[in-house]
Amino acid sequence: MTITFDNLTLTQGEFTLRADLQIEEGHKIALLGPSGGGKSTLLSALAGFIAPTTGRILWNGDDISQTIPAKRPVTLLFQDHNLFPHLSVAQNIGLGLRPNLRLSANEHQIVAEALARVGLDGQGDKHPAQLSGGQQQRVAIARALLRDKPILLLDEPFAALGPALKHEMLDLVAEIVDAANATLLMVTHQPEDALWISDQTVLIADGEAHAPQDTKTLMADPPAVLRAYLGT
Ligand code: ADP
Ligand code: MG
Repeated sequence: MTITFDNLTLTQGEFTLRADLQIEEGHKIALLGPSGGGKSTLLSALAGFIAPTTGRILWNGDDISQTIPAKRPVTLLFQDHNLFPHLSVAQNIGLGLRPNLRLSANEHQIVAEALARVGLDGQGDKHPAQLSGGQQQRVAIARALLRDKPILLLDEPFAALGPALKHEMLDLVAEIVDAANATLLMVTHQPEDALWISDQTVLIADGEAHAPQDTKTLMADPPAVLRAYLGT
């Protein structure tokens, strides 16, 4: 199970990102690099919201470049705005199982368990606006977990959380990704987050997504572009 960015070029207005690399199954990958460097662009392309200008995206050798987002093997979680405000917390999570929300008794039970798993036991009847930002993000994580896709994409998902809760959430994501033998790609601005959760890091800078490198090795001796970004 491999994600391949094959001679990929992505264009957003004046901006161009090149990516020619592979990500092997089961890794937890941090995407690190300066703001505006193209991290979100790469995730959006993998999720199917941006079409390649040139090149292809492959999953296990199958070209998924033209596949609609709903049919791709990915779940994408943004920094915020992941929930539907008019639906209850439980309904928002239930969407991960059944887009039409006609859940069986067993599926209601699965939703309740997912809520408990992210520390929101019994809060299913509330609406998102009744929860804090951090709690809302945990609801979004609960839904992402239920979708059970082989690739989980997180775009700075925990930027709004304090350090203790953030580490708790990172550990939860790691646990779930490991249990499902899924592959994680997570954008972060924080090198310590990359060290906390990822074994490999994809550096995105100067219009290029670089091949994955061992996170610890990279942080121990950062290349110039990363040093400039880290300010060290
Ligand atoms: P990052 O997530 O690393 O901060 P992005 O992928 O969001 O970077 O953005 C990469 C570049 O693409 C930026 O220069 C940004 O201005 C540009 N860009 C992003 N979205 C659009 C858009 N919809 N139209 C034009 N330019 C865009
Ligand atoms: Mg971004």
